[in-house]
Amino acid sequence: MSAVETPAVHLVLRSHPPAPARVGLVHKPLPMRLVKTALSLGFFWGIIPYVIWVPPHYPWPVLAFCTGLALAYRFLIGRYEVRWFAGLCPACGRHLHVAPGARIDLPHTLTCFGCHFEPVLEPYSLAEEEAIAADARGVRHVLAECAGTWREEWVWDQPYVACSRCDARHHATPAVLAAARAENDRGRLMDYLAEEGRFLT
Ligand SMILES: [Zn+2]
Ligand SMILES: [Zn+2]
Repeated sequence: MSAVETPAVHLVLRSHPPAPARVGLVHKPLPMRLVKTALSLGFFWGIIPYVIWVPPHYPWPVLAFCTGLALAYRFLIGRYEVRWFAGLCPACGRHLHVAPGARIDLPHTLTCFGCHFEPVLEPYSLAEEEAIAADARGVRHVLAECAGTWREEWVWDQPYVACSRCDARHHATPAVLAAARAENDRGRLMDYLAEEGRFLT
């Protein structure tokens, strides 16, 4: 009944290339979340007038109030329940963790305990990635003058195009791949001409 979805996601952090991530999510529909939220509040707040008579009296109402609130919050916010997650930090490359059973929404901000940056787990579409990765001048490097060559790279079953010199890495959509190949060919031609030139002079 509760099917695990595996949306296309990646981890992003400003000024770093997108890092691969995989996640298994179970969608929790809103009506069910609202019912559970109401039940948590109704039950735990409802028992307050009764538990107040149990000695030593004062901790129980506070405990019931807070438990009800915490559960209600947990049920209300998370559109998805995480079944499994694997992801690498875009800044330092460490493995990031999300506990199975955690309720999250997308995009979801994580904290990397290696570098203390806060990468964001977000779904992506290939069309958008294509627009980000390439423009009229070709595939984007980190430095505009970078002379590195593009190579294909598979990370966890996701194809990427990565630069051999700078840190640039993009999702390998067909258009980006074609542009990268064209750029590599151009680069080889330039190298060839430079080599020829060296012999001629
Ligand atoms: Zn990190
Ligand atoms: Zn480069």
